This record gives sequence, structure tokens and C-alpha cells, in this order.
Amino acid sequence: MTTTEKLNQTIRDIPDFPKPGIIFKDITPVLADPKLVSELVDWFVDKAKEDKIDVIVGVESRGFLFGMLIADRMGIPFVPVRKEGKLPHKTVKYAYELEYGNATMEIHADALKPGQRVMIHDDLLATGGTAEAAAVLVEKLGAKACNFTFLIELSFLEGRKKLNSYNESVYSIVS
Ligand code: 5GP
Repeated sequence: MTTTEKLNQTIRDIPDFPKPGIIFKDITPVLADPKLVSELVDWFVDKAKEDKIDVIVGVESRGFLFGMLIADRMGIPFVPVRKEGKLPHKTVKYAYELEYGNATMEIHADALKPGQRVMIHDDLLATGGTAEAAAVLVEKLGAKACNFTFLIELSFLEGRKKLNSYNESVYSIVS
């Protein structure tokens, strides 16, 4: 079985979470399978090596799970992007539109160096708004958003289109 097939079988669909009509993709069964986790990290590490990535940026909160593992496996830094008000030091902020309302994401102002090559990682790509916000923050610090990686892509929401304006390198394991 391929990594994609194994991941597909392990993700759990939760109907009506967090609201009626939404089918939530639950990745907690993936986290409980150490062999699969290791294979998934290998998959992301290959993409990071191809694009000569220096730093992994993980998006709150599920982007921290694999983001930190990828960084650890490669021996490179991990940097969190968080929702407003969570990071303790001086931050750079970016406000963006959601389907209903808006959100603000932050990164520590000293977290990246100009010119660093960054992978932006999250568990799931939906509309692309969250990953795009992370890319804006990375570029505000003078670093380069070289690629985007996800475990899951909800392709019908066309988030990839939004990210393509930044970079063509958008990788998901299951679509
Ligand atoms: P977007 O900004 O692309 O519309 O939404 C992506 C964000 O929403 C990601 O941070 C992701 O963690 C979260 N998200 C939205 N729907 C789901 C889902 O069904 N499952 C999981 N695991 N995360 C989701």
C-alpha cells in the first residue's frame, strides 16, 4: 500500500463537526500510528530537500504536529504562526478574511532571517486563507515562502489557486 492509500484509510470523517453540515477530517488516528507518521515525515522531508528549505513554519495548531517532526528530522528550525494574542514576544500581524468574519495571524518579528527558504506546513488545505496568511507573514520578515505542504487538500475549495499566486509548489498527500 502506498503512503497516500494508508493515509486515506486512516483519516476519520466526522459528520456535523464543528457545525451541522460540515464533515471534519480528523487526523488523530494518524498520530496514533507511529509507522505511518514516520512515512509521512519522510514524504514531507523529500519535498523540503527538493526545495532546499532552511526553516519549517507550522500553522496553529495542527500544523505544529508534523511541522516540528519535519524540522527535527532535518535538523532545521521550526517557527510557529499563531492566532492573535498567543505569541509572547514582539510580533508581526496579518489580518485576513474568512468565509464568515475575519482572523489575525502572528509570527515573532525575529523568527526568520531575510532570504531564508521556508516551507509552510499545515494539516489541511481548505480555502487557502490560513496558509496564504502564513506566507504573507513569512515574506513580511524578508524570508521566502518556497513551498506549502499539507496532509490533506479539499480540492473542491480551490485553495491551491490562492496559493499559486505565491508559489507553484503546493504539495498534499491526500486530495
Ligand atoms: P483554510 O484557511 O484553508 O480555509 O482552512 C484551513 C485551516 O482550517 C487549517 O488550519 C486546518 O487545520 C483547518 N481545518 C478546516 N477544516 C478542517 C478539517 O476538516 N479537518 C482538519 N483537521 N482541519 C481543518
